[in-house]
Amino acid sequence: MVLLCALLWEVNRLYVATQRANESLYQQSFKDTLTGLFNRRYLESQLAIHIDHAKRHKEPLCLLVLDVDHFKAFNDQHGHLAGDDCLVTVAKQLEQSLYRPADFIARYGGEEFIVVLPHTDAKDGMQIAERLRLNVSAEKIEYQGQLLSVTISIGCAVLRHSEETAQSLLIAADSALYQAKAAGRNCVKVAVD
Ligand code: GH3
Ligand code: MG
Ligand code: MG
Repeated sequence: MVLLCALLWEVNRLYVATQRANESLYQQSFKDTLTGLFNRRYLESQLAIHIDHAKRHKEPLCLLVLDVDHFKAFNDQHGHLAGDDCLVTVAKQLEQSLYRPADFIARYGGEEFIVVLPHTDAKDGMQIAERLRLNVSAEKIEYQGQLLSVTISIGCAVLRHSEETAQSLLIAADSALYQAKAAGRNCVKVAVD
């Protein structure tokens, strides 16, 4: 009997440990290893859900695509490690500049980030984007005794019609980002139909 109880206890302990390990692996699979932000996989799993919710409840939703300006030149000038430090600092600043619990940010890839702002129209989205842009440009990146800085350009798009999908919203925000780059960078542009 004692042996059986000990065995059951051990099986239960192993089961709990495995569950915890699985849960931790699952959480990690949604995280970007460099910045600790959510990754592209998380964004892709969540964006369609948020869009469906917004459409069903007839609520606005805003999506921002952010890209660090002249980041290749930054890497060339200061080195790849400084570039990595820069991305970590920018990610932290962006995270701290979002106040509402429903808002979320992901590293989409390279030096590109995406912010999803539920319950947010174009006017408020532009204001938030401007805040993100200003906060990043004011940030100082400490690297080997130097204080470096970067700027970001931002494309902003909102849900426009019932046929909107995650992909069409991303394309709209991306074309707004392209306009921001063409307008000289370090600025925010909104997608127009
Ligand atoms: P633009 O203002 O038009 O965005 O110019 P850019 O130089 O930022 O854009 P480009 O696409 O030419 O270069 C992106 C650079 O970002 C090149 C690549 O080496 C760098 N990069 C991407 N991911 C990382 C990373 O994880 N760490 C570092 N250090 N650099 C990265
Ligand atoms: Mg880029
Ligand atoms: Mg760039």
